Amino acid sequence: MVLRVDYKTDVWVDWCPGCGDFGILTAIQKALKELEISPWQAVIVSGIGCSGKTPHFIYANGVHTLHGRAIPFATGIKMSNPELTVIVDGGDGDLLGIGAGHFVALGRRNLDITVLIHDNQVYGLTKGQASPTLPIGAKTKSLPKPNLQEPVNPVALALTSGYTFVARAFAMDIQHLTDIIKRAIEHKGAAVVDILQPCVTYNDLYTTQWYRKRVYKLDEDPEWDPVVRNPSERMEKLSKALGMAWEWGDRIPVGVFYEDETKDTILDRIKAYIPSYKSYPPAKQNITKGGRPVIDTSMFKEIFKEYLVKVSK
Ligand code: SF4
Repeated sequence: MVLRVDYKTDVWVDWCPGCGDFGILTAIQKALKELEISPWQAVIVSGIGCSGKTPHFIYANGVHTLHGRAIPFATGIKMSNPELTVIVDGGDGDLLGIGAGHFVALGRRNLDITVLIHDNQVYGLTKGQASPTLPIGAKTKSLPKPNLQEPVNPVALALTSGYTFVARAFAMDIQHLTDIIKRAIEHKGAAVVDILQPCVTYNDLYTTQWYRKRVYKLDEDPEWDPVVRNPSERMEKLSKALGMAWEWGDRIPVGVFYEDETKDTILDRIKAYIPSYKSYPPAKQNITKGGRPVIDTSMFKEIFKEYLVKVSK
């Protein structure tokens, strides 16, 4: 099937000219098209921040949710209808600050969702405060003093949380980013791509030029093989990936750090208890019959009867 859509909407894209968000948006649109995923089969879920506007710009299902809560929304969507391709698109502050607990929980569940992190080290929408990935001691032009906190390493956090596909990419290398996003979507399990991107308005330290001098591709090394094809390889490949995750400075690796093809997802685990889940997930169940709810609400009355308050007249 050839899809005659470019996944663009007619909503004005109001990011600052030169922002890395443009590269990420283009790469998502290209990945959906090249994988021939229909707009009605894809769901883009965002939180709050500059990146939160992304679903408005992609011709597909989209939900612009609450700050830090994109992953819980996406989890509900995927659990209800496992046939959908669900992509979380959020900022480093949204996913690794207020949403950090949800980020860890998704890795533990290994639910088949792709998480794209716009990693620009600042809260751009609210004038450039330090986000969780800004290195300690860094002083961007929007900070009155150098940053006092240690940064989160998104790749290391994802690896230790249980994500079975972990990658890093650079927003200004759109073809490489597209290829990584396609691999993340095709992976069966929780996938994350930490996308290094400039915020041209508030981050004057980690610019496009700064990254261009430093990023190198892991997959250009013929010895690099991050894929776990047998559970016995897991610890060795995880350790190597963790070692690479901390390389940062004059050289910054991008590419796939880790891909485990052997771990089951939480939907596999649920189906072991409920075999009908695959053919009959919540999205395919009838919720009404003859205009009435199918669920017998009397059971709720039984459960909550001790909380019922009797009002005497
Ligand atoms: Fe991009 Fe920064 Fe502008 Fe937000 S404030 S749109 S992250 S350049």
